[in-house]
Amino acid sequence: GAPVSNVAGIGNGAKNGVLIKGGEVMNTFANVDTLVFDKTGTLTEGKTAVTTIKDYSNDQLGLQIAAAVEKQSDHPLAQAVVSFTNAHQIDFDSVKVTDANTVKGRGVKANADTHQVLIGNLRMMNDEQVDLTTIQHRDLENIQNQGSSTVIVAFDGQVQAIFGISDVIRQGVKESLAQLKSLGIKKTVMLTGDNLQTANAVAKQIGIDEVHAELLPEQKVDYVKKYQQEGHKVAFVGDGINDSPSLVTADIGIAMGSGTDVAVETSDVVLMSSGFNELIHAYGLSKKTVMNTK
Ligand code: ADP
Ligand code: MG
Repeated sequence: GAPVSNVAGIGNGAKNGVLIKGGEVMNTFANVDTLVFDKTGTLTEGKTAVTTIKDYSNDQLGLQIAAAVEKQSDHPLAQAVVSFTNAHQIDFDSVKVTDANTVKGRGVKANADTHQVLIGNLRMMNDEQVDLTTIQHRDLENIQNQGSSTVIVAFDGQVQAIFGISDVIRQGVKESLAQLKSLGIKKTVMLTGDNLQTANAVAKQIGIDEVHAELLPEQKVDYVKKYQQEGHKVAFVGDGINDSPSLVTADIGIAMGSGTDVAVETSDVVLMSSGFNELIHAYGLSKKTVMNTK
């Protein structure tokens, strides 16, 4: 009967670093035809590093303040900024940060010493009426066209610095996506809060079907719902950093990598080591298990 076979499937999964929460999950997973991925930390390793720096302040104050504020954030981009300043012995201990607040889909707002600081993307700068000069716009575009993410640092209404931050695409993603297609996936999608140029540069290297960028977490959910309304069974794969709503909304939520505790709790499938191999294994297993029960 179905339960026995499903249990066998689950046991087999656990041995391969996959946790599948129940037999019903196996059945639903086997019917998934649309795989939606978060970019940072999922398609990429999330090991971010600063590769470009434009310092318009010329006195490193912009960098010091950026590091002091980003130290309060656990976003992968923030970690890259802090590592960079540490590696270059740029001391920021004396900068006093107060009122650091995350602005969803945009960045961080804080007070540092006597400055009102904004650190984030172009959307944040536009919202706060901080204008970029022609040169700054050009710098921003150049960095993004290389496939790097960008972090803009502004205080007192002026852009002080732009960081270019790169991430590494997980090994074998392209081949893995192709393999998932051969197992029954019809459509692969990337949803990201990052800028469109960077998203496209990653997409081109891995051959994903659709890309939607510059999204807020709730806009990611809207895409998941849209595919469902079109009649697709959708799995969302993410590392859970502000992606819990999508993990919950999807027919199957898949937490990848070490994942956050929240992701592990809100997902149906947990891939314990951060591999696409586990994902392929789990999907293939669900197909086999369901076939056995028919
Ligand atoms: P994602 O993880 O898909 O990039 P987020 O909602 O976490 O989506 O962030 C959206 C965007 O907001 C980021 O791509 C970045 O441009 C900006 N952002 C968020 N947090 C920070 C931060 N701590 N420092 C700089 N930029 C940030
Ligand atoms: Mg994220």
